[in-house]
Amino acid sequence: MTNHSFQTLINSASSQSTQLCFHCHKCTAGCPVVEEMEYGPDQILRLIQMGEKDALLTSHDIWICASCETCGTRCPNEIDIARVMDALREMAIKEGVKVAEIDAVKFHKLFLFVVQNMGRMHEASLLGAHKLWTMNLLADMDAGVKLIAKGKIPIVPHLIKQRGEVKRIFEKVASNPADQKPVE
Ligand code: SF4
Ligand code: SF4
Repeated sequence: MTNHSFQTLINSASSQSTQLCFHCHKCTAGCPVVEEMEYGPDQILRLIQMGEKDALLTSHDIWICASCETCGTRCPNEIDIARVMDALREMAIKEGVKVAEIDAVKFHKLFLFVVQNMGRMHEASLLGAHKLWTMNLLADMDAGVKLIAKGKIPIVPHLIKQRGEVKRIFEKVASNPADQKPVE
């Protein structure tokens, strides 16, 4: 695959024009998780321009990205990098690439499971289930206890009335074979 065709695929999947990036670094300067990344958002854009598909799809960065949209807000060329990261993640899963941050995928799956079954997010359920699934039981326990004590994370979920409507959205997506993307 040529540099150009890889970039065209990512542009099409993300509806972004990644060729407009001129590497001003503003996105990376504002990224809250860049310290954890190997490349950072502006280098991710550069790798797309260079057609470095393997390096991108096996990268930790595409899973560490928290989709906070700070980078896209700062970009002078209005490139929505969070959507570009989504496109890279989707391509990695579709092509069966070994996911570099499997706990992040578990987080995404549990997030959707909680919303599907409760109609909205319930952080305590999500965090508890994620700890059990990853067997990372004691990590960030101090922060969790403080947040619960301050009432920032309610223990009892507030269920919405029309949960069936939310479930129907998930069922509709699940009925489309194109959206069946096995991971692991
Ligand atoms: S802010 Fe936009 S133009 Fe600047 S490096 Fe990031 S993606 Fe490229
Ligand atoms: S969307 Fe991702 S890459 Fe962009 S600033 Fe947020 S965490 Fe960083």
